[in-house]
Amino acid sequence: MQFSFETTVRIVDALAGKGLGEEIAVHGWVRTRRSSKSVTFVELNDGSCMSSLQIIFDADSPVAADELERMQTGASMEARGTLSESPGGRQSVELRATEARVIGEASADRYPLQKKRHSFEYLREIAHLRARTNTFGAIARLRNTLSMATHRFFQDYGFYSLHSPIITASDAEGAGELFQVTTLPLDELAAAETQLDYSRDFFAKPAYLTVSGQLNAEIYACALERVYTFGPTFRAENSNTTRHLAEFWMIEPEMAFCDLDGNIEIAERYLRRLIEAALRESSEDMQFFDKRIRPGLLNELEHLLASDFTRITYREAIEALQRSGKEFEFTPSWGADLQSEHERYLTEELYNGPVIVTDYPKEIKAFYMKLNPDGETVRAMDVLVPYLGEIIGGSQREDDLELLKRRIDEAGLDREAYWWYLDLRRFGTVPHSGFGLGFERLVRYLSGMQNIRDVIPFPRTVRSAEF
Ligand code: ATP
Ligand code: MG
Repeated sequence: MQFSFETTVRIVDALAGKGLGEEIAVHGWVRTRRSSKSVTFVELNDGSCMSSLQIIFDADSPVAADELERMQTGASMEARGTLSESPGGRQSVELRATEARVIGEASADRYPLQKKRHSFEYLREIAHLRARTNTFGAIARLRNTLSMATHRFFQDYGFYSLHSPIITASDAEGAGELFQVTTLPLDELAAAETQLDYSRDFFAKPAYLTVSGQLNAEIYACALERVYTFGPTFRAENSNTTRHLAEFWMIEPEMAFCDLDGNIEIAERYLRRLIEAALRESSEDMQFFDKRIRPGLLNELEHLLASDFTRITYREAIEALQRSGKEFEFTPSWGADLQSEHERYLTEELYNGPVIVTDYPKEIKAFYMKLNPDGETVRAMDVLVPYLGEIIGGSQREDDLELLKRRIDEAGLDREAYWWYLDLRRFGTVPHSGFGLGFERLVRYLSGMQNIRDVIPFPRTVRSAEF
């Protein structure tokens, strides 16, 4: 038997009836094996879907008994036989094997994945094997569905995919939390306690891993009109939360000739498209999440699709919170950021659906957001959803040269470092807008998983970077 893309059927297709009545070959890893006197059943999973294919070896099977014995949980194998309808079984089809062999053995009692349900903490320690579990297989497939839906959505609206740099010499928001990139001999320097001489460093100046592709996306939006980035993002978040990773993926569309209203419209359509894609294209996995991870998830998502997105200003949000009569840990007041308890009240209690909050005080938002005529607030928008809080943050960008210079000064940043950013406002400036959506926050929301470490294949967090 030889591997071939032509003759091998993926289990997801076999279960849908592809090759029914014909001789097919399948590959995968043994989930379970049961034997009775005359017949052995092997549940084979190849990661193409949640379900496994049942392989049947009956009394007159030509496969030797010692080969059957090697088909233990975790072993890899191939099997060939006729795909037939399953009489009254849980599954629609089954494979009656005429040929089969184990490719890579696994000793069932030493295999780290046992039949019992393992804790997510334990599975994080064996991230090289957790992809073979139902939950992590489903997460991997959902990520695939959502990333393809992202590309399709933006392509449908005439956006160009942009590869923004991963190494950057500018700190996008002056916000800190940067990983520095250097080839300086840090050990030697530390031993000698010398001053850092950046002229000896690779870029001859300090450089960092990017915290956002936005500023680069603005450059291309001011030439191609609509672009989006979908790339890795790094933040040295020195906190242990279930919402923060040190390395995560972000989607950042940027549109020229577009104001805050246009930005909100695209954000809302994009979010709806993502949810629809998850429900339609990953329905088996979503049903699993609904049953095993977060009961009620599917209802919540259907409810969100049917809801209007409520749009309020930051001022209205603060007033609503103050009127609510609720005891918040953080008292809502003008000029303070919305806390997650506030976001939950707005989305889960007051409006019972997604809420878009706009026009925040300039002090709590980044320097590049467009100043409103009131001189106090900026054209920012955050999209909040029930149970998660903020899922998207964005704004219309300041396109007025003089105002932008002033905002850079106020933020304590160096105008010189942003000369190119200012140039975009000197030559053919245009109203433009964009937003960022954290991919892992999205996956966490749509799967109902509790911890962001469990929705990315290989999580990097403070003091932890394995595999
Ligand atoms: P938070 O207040 O939760 O730290 P933020 O205000 O720092 O978020 P932004 O700078 O607006 O976030 O980043 C855009 C999006 O990136 C966020 O809406 C969120 O979805 C995601 N995000 C931000 N930080 C992280 C992180 N450390 N890990 C995973 N996703 C993140
Ligand atoms: Mg943050």
